[in-house]
Amino acid sequence: MKKMKFLLSSLTIAALCTTAMPSHAKDKKLAVVSSFSIIGDLAKAVGGDRIELRTLVGPNSDAHVYEPRPADALALARADVILVNGLLFEGFMDRLIEASESKAPITVLTDGAEILNDPKGGHYHYVDGKAIFHATPNDPHAWQSVGNAKVYVGNIAKAFCAADKDGCPIYEKNAAAYDEKLTGLAAEIKTAIDALPKERRVAVVAHNAFRYFERDYGVTFLAPQGVSTESEASAADVASLIREIREKKAAAVFSENISDARLVKQIASEAGLELGGALYSDALSPPEGPAASYLDMMRYNVKTLVEAIDRD
Ligand SMILES: [Zn+2]
Ligand SMILES: [Zn+2]
Repeated sequence: MKKMKFLLSSLTIAALCTTAMPSHAKDKKLAVVSSFSIIGDLAKAVGGDRIELRTLVGPNSDAHVYEPRPADALALARADVILVNGLLFEGFMDRLIEASESKAPITVLTDGAEILNDPKGGHYHYVDGKAIFHATPNDPHAWQSVGNAKVYVGNIAKAFCAADKDGCPIYEKNAAAYDEKLTGLAAEIKTAIDALPKERRVAVVAHNAFRYFERDYGVTFLAPQGVSTESEASAADVASLIREIREKKAAAVFSENISDARLVKQIASEAGLELGGALYSDALSPPEGPAASYLDMMRYNVKTLVEAIDRD
């Protein structure tokens, strides 16, 4: 926070606010700010050419450790619509919006989605070899359910329509076309996972980002709880996860695009399992990567899971 205050001097803010357009004008595109890459892609699908989109946390980047830049506050101050996931996913966002003095409505895309409560009250992340607890009583990773992605898209269309009435028929048409793609995607995922032997549908990941995927498609995900590659307690924690991996006969261990693979490599070697590649959890890949859109991300994750689980 101190850093943000330093970066966003009150002088800059005042200058921004006098030049910012208070609302959407006919001759300019709808200015949309999305918090991270996955919802940025959904916004693009609904908004097409009518919006000017700025996504704050880019490809392969972790929203948890994101450090906002002055340009982000500038974009928020000028925004007509702000899109966030909510459920405490974007810890940096509230303060940044406040600092920007943005007057734009904030649309929480998980509103109306089927949300999973987290019985553990949150999940662990691994940053520089250390376990960090992210307290989220409701699991924020709701986009890993295609049914929830449909809710996100509906909320985006509503937000765009409210801010740009002339464009509403276009937004609704785009949203309906994309919704059909999501219906197809959900069917593809179901077919691919259903073809796997039931007893092999157990995977290990670095952080607990796939509970919605587990609920909707029936792959069990195990994740380390508080294991740190540096801490003294780590050996015991790893041992308990290894026991769980053996009990549940996990088929493969996966790394993630947003976090370093040291911990899962250690787990894989201790459990005698191979690393099954990287899953895209909390961010898309860059444009040249295999998961540059939401649809590609979900397909790539399923392909990676199926190939590793089906390997022997
Ligand atoms: Zn988290
Ligand atoms: Zn996460």
